[in-house]
Formats: sequence, structure tokens, C-alpha cells
Amino acid sequence: MKRVYNFSPGPAILPVPVLEEASKSVIEISNSGMSILEVSHRGKIYEAIHQDARAHCLKLMGLSPEEYTVIFMGGGASTQFATVPLNFLKPGQTADYVDGGEWGSKAIAAAKPLGNVHIAGSSAATKHSTLPRDFQWTPGAAYAHLTTNNTIEGTQMRFIPDAGSPVILDASSDFLGHRMDWKKASLVYLGAQKNAGPAGVTIIIAKKSFLATAKTDIPVVLQYNTHDKADSLYNTPPVFSIYIFSLVLKWIESQGGVEGLEKINQRKAQTIYDVLDAHSDVYDAAVTKKDDRSWMNLTWRLRDTSREEAFFKGAKERSLDGLKGHRNVGGFRASIYNAFPEEGCQVLAEYLKEFAKK
Ligand code: PMP
Repeated sequence: MKRVYNFSPGPAILPVPVLEEASKSVIEISNSGMSILEVSHRGKIYEAIHQDARAHCLKLMGLSPEEYTVIFMGGGASTQFATVPLNFLKPGQTADYVDGGEWGSKAIAAAKPLGNVHIAGSSAATKHSTLPRDFQWTPGAAYAHLTTNNTIEGTQMRFIPDAGSPVILDASSDFLGHRMDWKKASLVYLGAQKNAGPAGVTIIIAKKSFLATAKTDIPVVLQYNTHDKADSLYNTPPVFSIYIFSLVLKWIESQGGVEGLEKINQRKAQTIYDVLDAHSDVYDAAVTKKDDRSWMNLTWRLRDTSREEAFFKGAKERSLDGLKGHRNVGGFRASIYNAFPEEGCQVLAEYLKEFAKK
């Protein structure tokens, strides 16, 4: 099979060695006479995969299992938009939210009916083409919620601000793409389907001392503590997605860990941004502030929008797939997550150069 350069924003490209190993396991896992799709989530085979993924995830984040825990849930990151305030926003308290893009706005909309929400920072004035700055944190807030990478708009916060309250991060679209001082976060969540695996599992990394403060008057299955106390085996987890996540973690290790990937990711993004900037008469990069630019989702428009169809046609001829911008913003978006090959970025950069000269 000839693989295309898959720039899809998620579900997204996965490492080929992961797909190869997974395809064998779909037939038989660990000489068990069973497919990974058939084994019990209470059996030895799956339990080893499950615990290995949890431990490995913390290791790659530089977190200790004494202090932090990993929980697997369903429902995607969108369900976490509600689960977070349900667990941590108590009556009389305020939660700080940073509105850095459409997903941050959705998190805010989900929290508002559940308690007091304060917008501590927003980039709405620049239509989210910059990162929010000048945060106004609430003293004694229940928590501060931020989105690390704004998948739709193409901005990325590669640091964790000091909010003065427990920091909660939606890291759905840049998890383990670069080094982060995760110790500064009390809870991190992500839908796996961009940088960590296939759709179906939502990964939550939480500080145990923060979980200890969670509410207990909400449905049992929505309490993070219910899952944590059961080693994230309270109910049937999305076994196959967690299995692929475990393989992705091993693949990250083989790339020199997060540090190794960071170098590659930065280089990949630069290859494309350089061409967009060199041909700014043709391309209008959506994020102009270089420090705010995402290394995962690169967004731009054509100054002459009448050439869009021609751009897509040429891209298709070069097996460059999935470059359409999000339906709400239009234009183009290249999602170049961890598994996206550097060679594909070079092919896109060459095409951008060629197209600019026409
Ligand atoms: N947050 C971010 C930053 C995202 O990019 C996405 C999905 N594109 C979501 C949340 C929503 O994720 P899900 O579809 O898993 O609910």
C-alpha cells in the first residue's frame, strides 16, 4: 500500500511500526489464541498492557507514580469539559478559564451551567490568532483551565503558567510533542486521537493530592476517584485504544523520547513556516507571532482565495491529504503530529514553493 501524507487533524496518522504490530495483534496477542479485540479486560494479558501504559505515560511525562495517576475514560475530551467542573467546581467557588480558541470556548460553555466561571484570559480580540496574555487569575480559584494547543486556530502554549490555583490542561492536540514541566499541572486530559493513539480513549493524568479534593456528590461513574481507586478498571475500558496508546508510548521511546520528538517536531514545523513566510505575497499565515505558532497544527490562507481549488488539486496529485482548514475558519491546516514523517513536511514545503511561483 502506498501511504498518503496524512495531514488530518484527528483521528490522525499513527506510526507505521505501531500499525504493523497492532495488525498482528488483531489476529493474535501474546500467543494466546485470541485477538486483542477478544481478550478480557480482567485477564492477565490486558492487565499487563493497561498497567504498562499507565506507568510508561507517567515516565515519559517525568512524573512519579507516587504523586500522579493515569485514568482512562470514554467520551472524548469534550466529556472532560463537563467532568472537570463536575468534580472540582464547588458551590461558592470560581473556576478560571482561558479562552484561547474554539475548544477553550467549548470548555467554558460546558462549565458555565455547573458553577461560577471567570474568564482569566482571552484571545477573542485577535480572533484567536495569538495566545492569550495578561492573565487575571482569581485568588483562591478552584482551578485554572487552559488549552495547550489550539488545534483549529494553530496557536500553542509550550509552557504552563503559574495561575496560583491548580492548573488543568486540555492537551488533546500536542501531548508529548515537546517537553513540558508537567509537575506544574494538577490535571491534564486529552482525547487520544491526535498525538497518542486512535479515537476511543480519553487519557487523564492527575495529581493524587488534587483528586483528594474532588466532589463526592456527583454520579459515581463520573468521579475521577472512582476510576483511580480501581486502577482505572472500574468498568470496561476501551481496550484496543489503550493497547495502541501503549504501542505509541514505546514508539516515542524509540524516537529519543519526548526530547527527541521535540527536536524533530520543531524542525518539521519550521520547514513549512519558512516557506509560508518567504512567500507572504501568496500565503497569509494565520498566526504571525512566531512564539505563538503551533508545531502541531499549521494554519494559513491563500491571499487569492480563487486559487484554493487549484491548491487542493495539486496537493492531491502529490498525495498530500487532509489539508483543508477547519470548517469554521476555512483556509488550510497542516496537522503534523508526532507520527507525521519529516519527509512529508518537505514535500509540502516544496509544493508550497512551486505553487507560489505559478
Ligand atoms: N480539545 C481540543 C484541543 C481538541 O483539538 C479537540 C478535538 N479536535 C477536543 C478538545 C475535542 O475532542 P473530542 O472530539 O475527543 O471530544
